[in-house]
Amino acid sequence: MKWLVERKTIAGGFGLAMVILTLVNHFYYTDTVKVFERQKQVEKSYEVLQKIRDVLTTLRDAERARRGYIITGKESYLGTYNNAIQKIDEKFYLALSFTSDNIRHQEKLKIIKPLIDQRVALIKQSVALYKQNKNDVLTQVTLTDKGLILHDEIWKIIAQMEAEEQYILRQKAVESKANLNQLNLIKNVGLWSSFTILFIVYWLLNKQLTKRQQSEEKFRQIADNINEIFWISDLELEEILYVNQAYEKIWQKTCQSLYANPRSFLDNIYSDDRERVIDSIKLNSKKESDIEYRIVLPDGSIRWLWERRFPVKNAQGEVYRRAGVTQDITERKQGEEVSRTLAKEREINDLKLRFFSMASHEFRTPLSTILVSAQLLENSSKEWTEEKKLKNLHRIKSAAKLMTQLLTDILTLTRAESGNLEFNPQPLNLEKLCNSVVEEIEVSYNAKQNIFFVSQCQNKLVYMDEKLLHSIFTNLLSNAIKYSQENSDIHFILRYEGENAIFQIKDQGIGIIPEDKQQLYDFFYRGQNVGDAPGTGLGLVIVKKCVDLHGGNITVESEVQIGTTFTVTIPLNPFVSY
Ligand code: ADP
Repeated sequence: MKWLVERKTIAGGFGLAMVILTLVNHFYYTDTVKVFERQKQVEKSYEVLQKIRDVLTTLRDAERARRGYIITGKESYLGTYNNAIQKIDEKFYLALSFTSDNIRHQEKLKIIKPLIDQRVALIKQSVALYKQNKNDVLTQVTLTDKGLILHDEIWKIIAQMEAEEQYILRQKAVESKANLNQLNLIKNVGLWSSFTILFIVYWLLNKQLTKRQQSEEKFRQIADNINEIFWISDLELEEILYVNQAYEKIWQKTCQSLYANPRSFLDNIYSDDRERVIDSIKLNSKKESDIEYRIVLPDGSIRWLWERRFPVKNAQGEVYRRAGVTQDITERKQGEEVSRTLAKEREINDLKLRFFSMASHEFRTPLSTILVSAQLLENSSKEWTEEKKLKNLHRIKSAAKLMTQLLTDILTLTRAESGNLEFNPQPLNLEKLCNSVVEEIEVSYNAKQNIFFVSQCQNKLVYMDEKLLHSIFTNLLSNAIKYSQENSDIHFILRYEGENAIFQIKDQGIGIIPEDKQQLYDFFYRGQNVGDAPGTGLGLVIVKKCVDLHGGNITVESEVQIGTTFTVTIPLNPFVSY
């Protein structure tokens, strides 16, 4: 706020000083013009007086020549006399024209004119008389007396005119002095006030400049001592306007090299990240953005950086620059990596423990079946019929089979949970795979049901993982067999919808009671209505994992004693995202 007031004062002060100096200049000019004019008038007054005196001087010259001629009788005086008489009129009219701008002078000259004429006439009369009669002294004296009277009258009037001119001259002198004083006052006041204002303006400017320099120094001190890179560039990143010293520490390149080539920092970005950084620079030129990327230092080591960029707007609100802060986050990244690995390991350990405790529990049932059957066989083998012995042997066999299945399932799931169950999609003939799974199942499960495989279209090229699909179909079909009566129908349908393959396995078996539906995909969960049907409670968990790896989904529809339908939807090509 204070800064703003100071800026206004500086601008106002400059303006005021300029106005004062212009006014002083103006007054000075107009007053100087006045003084010059007055000077001219004074000169004119002097000239007027000179011209009037000139008339009288000529008249006096004529009179003197007359007197000289009459007293000495020398003809030489007549030359001077004639000359003077001739010039009188000419000089009079010159004086008259000089006083054309002064009515009073003109009037007075008009009064003088007849007097001059009379005096000239008297002079002429005296000369003429002397030429006729040199001895008529009496008449000559009379003429001389009359001439003297006229001379006095003329002088009186001229003295009045002179006095008037003198008065005007004095007046002008007083006015000139007053003007000069006023001029000096204006000049002094004007110049001093402008100098004072300019001095204040200079002082304020100097103060602001010092303040700005101080804050720039402080800014540089702070900017050069922080560990983050701080930079400002033009919008197109073609010119770096500022980058602090941290660039040299983090990038291990000189700031100068960046000023010389503003995009040279890209050369050090890790090749896998470079495109991403370039894209983000292009896309986010006018908005805030964050990015993490790696750089490779001259010694080959890799550092992780985090960068935040901001658009900078001008007074019109248009983005015209970019600024950014870049931070070395390698330590944090390493820490995150370590804790991620630790967490994963902890998770795997937990999983293993859980499996072991659950598996050991699940193994107990078939193991005790085996033990009891074996014990019975040992103790009562002599009294038992062959048929009864065979029954016990079958029991041992199926318990062992179950344990094998359990082990296989646990192995698959452990791999899935630890992220080691591989998803390896390959070009595949689905119909062929489905048919072979059906055949395989019919044999290995000795199925008494009628299994129908129906496919909508054939030879469609799909990319799926054969092993995982095998696992899905085997588990679903074996469940359909396990939970259905002999001679019932099982339908395995394959159809395509858009970019998905849809598999349905429908049976007419015992169905799933509604309360169980929620937990079908939980570890070791078995339905309440399964009775003696053998099982591990892991089949559907495996199915779900395999479907998930394909990016598909599984749903179930079931009615108790009516039948169950599992529907699996899998994208035809996992490499394309639709
Ligand atoms: P299990 O080894 O018990 O079959 P699964 O994980 O394969 O384990 O299946 C979980 C439970 O889902 C089964 O115990 C059963 O209750 C139910 N189930 C799965 N498939 C069917 C089906 N086709 N008909 C009826 N119930 C089924």
